Amino acid sequence: MSEPAIKTEPQRIIGRDKDMFLAEENPFEAMMERFDHAAQLLNLDPGLYKVLRNPEKQIIVSVPIVRDNGDVEVYTGYRVLYNTSRGPAKGGIRFDLNVTLEEVKALAAWMTWKCALVNIPFGGAKGGVVCDPSAMSMTELERVTRRYTSGIIETLGPDSDVPAPDVNTNERVMAWIMDTYSMHHRHTVTAVVTGKPIEMGGSLGRREATGRGCMIVTREALARLGMSLKGARIAVQGFGNVGSVSADLMAREGATVVAVSDKSGGVYDPKGLDVADLLRWAGERRHLSAYAKAEHITNEQLLVVDCDVLIPAATENVITRKNAPNIKAKVICEGANGPTTAAADKVLEEKGIFVIPDILANAGGVTVSYFEWVQDRGGYFWDLETVNRRLESIMERSFHEVLGLVDKHKVSTRIACYMLAVDRVAAMHRLRGMYA
Ligand code: NAD
Repeated sequence: MSEPAIKTEPQRIIGRDKDMFLAEENPFEAMMERFDHAAQLLNLDPGLYKVLRNPEKQIIVSVPIVRDNGDVEVYTGYRVLYNTSRGPAKGGIRFDLNVTLEEVKALAAWMTWKCALVNIPFGGAKGGVVCDPSAMSMTELERVTRRYTSGIIETLGPDSDVPAPDVNTNERVMAWIMDTYSMHHRHTVTAVVTGKPIEMGGSLGRREATGRGCMIVTREALARLGMSLKGARIAVQGFGNVGSVSADLMAREGATVVAVSDKSGGVYDPKGLDVADLLRWAGERRHLSAYAKAEHITNEQLLVVDCDVLIPAATENVITRKNAPNIKAKVICEGANGPTTAAADKVLEEKGIFVIPDILANAGGVTVSYFEWVQDRGGYFWDLETVNRRLESIMERSFHEVLGLVDKHKVSTRIACYMLAVDRVAAMHRLRGMYA
């Protein structure tokens, strides 16, 4: 077999207690716990409550392919459209051995709330194929992508369901999805996916958008606490797209990045790490556990280092009731989706830590995906300055709308985010009425 097409990051176990994860949270239940709380405070009517607790559509497909050695392998693929009342379903596709329908449902629901929270005209979806891309050649990965795309093709479309990259999928995979869809429709449809290569209709600024969004809301949160990014000490778990861009942009604003990690482990220097050097290191696909210029720490230790801002930007359920009491950060900016369990929420609230919840913190990515979709449909492309300015305005506005609800209802930032998002989705349902 040739070089693996995608270098995967085995999820879930590294840097966390596996039993704790199993016992503490099912991602869909974790999402529902927060939804229920918000629904109660919003006094959501019982009918609408039932509607919003259920995904609109769940698709399970077999994905058979012929492997390079001639053997036939059959993978399982999912696509869940959680809610499309506000517009086309929007959400990434992940290729990973840990993909489950429960996880895809939770991620699809989070996308629904996230798009409503930043007030962009999309519903929420997510998809995945249970497979290990690191054990596949590039041609096998292409066959999986195209066969999965043809399996879910009825739901796809710029007006109905628009995928994007997620764990272990990238621009290359989006290009294959776009091509497969376009071949079936007999003309080129760039707006069917976002996160594409720039040359085929991708947006400038999309790659950095999630990290840029994290920087903007962290700056606003620190201002609320009377602090500034200048001189703030930052710890980042996960030095991939979201984590490395967040660290880089915050360092450029004068912050001191004291700790970063990847799945191999972390590095720490209370006087500040050389972020540019770490970016070069990671860019050469080298693990941080082999980085010699700083003290080594584990992913568990990273979460509790002495810092002002903690950015979990790796994976789900890393902040649990077990480690939350030891977190020293004043602000947590959730770059990853679902990094904090519902049980840990309560501990963080008692400790007075300012949490910027995932559906707000990492919404910069889907916001610029929306810009990409708009540009593709208009056939007119914006310069980077325009993309960044519009992103900044949406992130700032959304942050302050959430703060308004925190102050008005005396609720946590997480519940305020859910209240704002669920209320917007519910309002659309009320206006549309029930089709029967
Ligand atoms: P990525 O693959 O580029 O980077 C992930 C990083 O986390 C890598 O450094 C990896 O080594 C590390 N990692 C993986 N598992 C780990 C573990 N168990 N413990 C510690 N570190 C681990 O991924 P990304 O695009 O940066 O996404 C990270 C998170 O942000 C995911 O939860 C993703 O869903 C979320 N997110 C990403 C975007 C985006 O635009 N990329 C948008 C919204 C949300």
